[in-house]
Amino acid sequence: YHEALPVPLHPDEVHELGLEINDLLRSLNEQVLRDHQFVSDASHELRTPLTAIRGHVSLIKRRGQQHPEVVPRSLSFIDHESARMQTLVESLLRLSRMDHVDLTGDFYDATQLIQSTITNYQDELPQPITLNLPKQPVSVYVNADSLQQILIALLSNASKYSPTDAPITVSLTVVDSHPTIKVADGGLGIPNENKSHIFERFYRVDQARSQKIPGNGLGLSIVSRLVDLNHATIAVSDNYPRGTVFTIQLATTPPADA
Ligand code: ADP
Repeated sequence: YHEALPVPLHPDEVHELGLEINDLLRSLNEQVLRDHQFVSDASHELRTPLTAIRGHVSLIKRRGQQHPEVVPRSLSFIDHESARMQTLVESLLRLSRMDHVDLTGDFYDATQLIQSTITNYQDELPQPITLNLPKQPVSVYVNADSLQQILIALLSNASKYSPTDAPITVSLTVVDSHPTIKVADGGLGIPNENKSHIFERFYRVDQARSQKIPGNGLGLSIVSRLVDLNHATIAVSDNYPRGTVFTIQLATTPPADA
């Protein structure tokens, strides 16, 4: 909401106004460029599997009858690529829905939220998960679903980018009165020059691509958005002697403007 401006304006005010309009235009332009880039990246990511699927359909049509052995291989390829497209479309929808949401938070005991998320999820992962939770409750102000989604995304990455026997540790501590969750793995690690980019949409470290580890580069951008919506923070660092640590600090009170 902008206050109605007094008219006529003083020349200084006209100058100020001009500067403000320039700022506004600049940020609008940046937004338009970002949106454009996003649509272009998303289309590219969808076009690659789609082209491959159409190639296999055409192969089945041309050769399926005379060479029935091509059919199962092509079908399994189509199955795999269409599943990948489905995951991608679902991630895109989640991201776009999050542009307009206002999540409702509440007070929770973080130890309980973490405990129940891990209990429900750990069977899906090959790696053992070690939980380091304090004995006493740790009160946080958060949207419970968001915290669960954040933890699952980080655990899923910790698992994907680690050998199947490298343990994953989830811990909760209170650092300078900030409830702090760490998800630590003993996996590939993230080179320093890539760390600042991993929360960008579609960004994947070369190593992840070249080792054909499945993924679309959207998981951490969803995490980053959920973290913002919950007035929390997230940071990434190296684990010792190898692997990655994601550190989340949660809010303890509702945001001041709520
Ligand atoms: P993806 O679907 O590729 O996993 P994300 O947005 O979740 O997408 O992560 C972006 C990139 O960050 C990944 O492709 C990977 O290169 C890197 N990354 C994320 N988490 C980890 C981790 N725990 N260990 C090593 N690399 C990671």
